[in-house]
Amino acid sequence: MMKSVVCNEPGSLLVRDVARPVDKPGQVIVKIKRIGICGTDIHAFGGNQPFFQYPRVLGHELSGEIASVGEGVALTPGQEVYIVPYMSCGSCIACRRGKTNCCTDIQVLGVHVDGGMCEYLQVPEQYVITTAGMDLDQLAVVECLAIGAHAVRRAKLTAGSTVLVVGAGPIGMGVMQFAKVAGAKVFVMDMNAERLAFCKDQLGADQVIQAGPTAREQISALTSGDFIDTVFDATGNAKAMEAGFELVAHGGSYVLVSVVKAEISFADPEFHKREMTLLGSRNATREDFEQVVSCLENGSVNANAMITHRGALLDLPTLLPQWCKAESGVIKAVVEV
Ligand SMILES: [Zn+2]
Ligand SMILES: [Zn+2]
Repeated sequence: MMKSVVCNEPGSLLVRDVARPVDKPGQVIVKIKRIGICGTDIHAFGGNQPFFQYPRVLGHELSGEIASVGEGVALTPGQEVYIVPYMSCGSCIACRRGKTNCCTDIQVLGVHVDGGMCEYLQVPEQYVITTAGMDLDQLAVVECLAIGAHAVRRAKLTAGSTVLVVGAGPIGMGVMQFAKVAGAKVFVMDMNAERLAFCKDQLGADQVIQAGPTAREQISALTSGDFIDTVFDATGNAKAMEAGFELVAHGGSYVLVSVVKAEISFADPEFHKREMTLLGSRNATREDFEQVVSCLENGSVNANAMITHRGALLDLPTLLPQWCKAESGVIKAVVEV
């Protein structure tokens, strides 16, 4: 048997004893060591993920150690790993084009299928990535950062161009760090002054802007009226997503990393006159995960500073409700198993 923390219904987490998985061909059993807590977990717990099915074991930002492997698996027990939580079908149009991140039948651990808030998780071999000498905490944040790396790769930034990241949550912090790696000049906008100070002091943002009625004027002044080559939205807020259109420079791009359950609209003349490029960015691919790991290894991206809170697996039923509150000041919480 093993312990598992299940989200039974919105607002309720329970510790349960469940059967430990048994080895199967092509599958790996990972002893989970760290779980990063993500906006997805918080929304699922809060009940504001409309198509989420309960009960569900949450947790998709996972690192650990291989406990055992099934027949035909080339990995070795004891190896430290992180898990790519996006399971793709391999045959749909997106998978055939290598865009496994937007597979038509994607199954995300902790979202569509049970995730990693447990002691042992069984995962197909191709989603278990070995690393050597990496910190388990950092490995638990790889998925979160990979979303930012993917969005930046989508945008094909050029060195010296200007970037504005709207929304300084963990996803936005990932976007800004990879935009810096790409050599862009990075502006960050948020409503939360503490988050902005953190982005400037810890993560190297070039300029921070307090969101509000004067933000557009400030951006105009800071760019001599040019506005921004590439704007990334990481707010999860429909109004902010709409407002971002008018911050894009003529000839520039707008990348929507956020997703909201709403319609968003824009004025076509504003869009057209800019010849704006509008991009969605969803999840990440193996290539993005690998870029994150190499940037963590060479120190060009800082994951540890983002980890503000810690706790133990069995304390999650009391900790997660606290971490959901804005006043907790959580940027990234990491659970130890
Ligand atoms: Zn996540
Ligand atoms: Zn597919």
